[in-house]
Amino acid sequence: MSWQQLAACRDTDPELFFPEVDDYTAPETAAQLFAAAKVCVSCPVRRECLTYAVDSGQSFGIWAGRTPTELRAIRRQRTAGVPHPDVDLEPMCPGCSLLFSTPAVDGQLCPSCQDRFEKGA
Ligand code: SF4
Repeated sequence: MSWQQLAACRDTDPELFFPEVDDYTAPETAAQLFAAAKVCVSCPVRRECLTYAVDSGQSFGIWAGRTPTELRAIRRQRTAGVPHPDVDLEPMCPGCSLLFSTPAVDGQLCPSCQDRFEKGA
């Protein structure tokens, strides 16, 4: 069973999650974001949804109660080598985005990136 089949929004009108106006400060869009976020807050696959939206570069719509601007901020944070607690279960190598299987210090390079760094490649 895929995570989409467990989504709380499965039987909701998809238009709720894709506002016509891409300005989340506009009153109507903000109200729509609030209504969508109310569905997302109790969704059992919220982490999977957010991870999918971030990893696949979604730039439209509301995913896991987050706006496109918030998704971009998470991507920038991860690109800077700082794992996001809602998306990353493990620390991530800032060189290649490989997730460490064992706890690592934030910003630490994975063994292959460390090897390339030491060789000056
Ligand atoms: S977190 Fe929200 S948008 Fe994502 S699957 Fe769940 S209800 Fe749908």
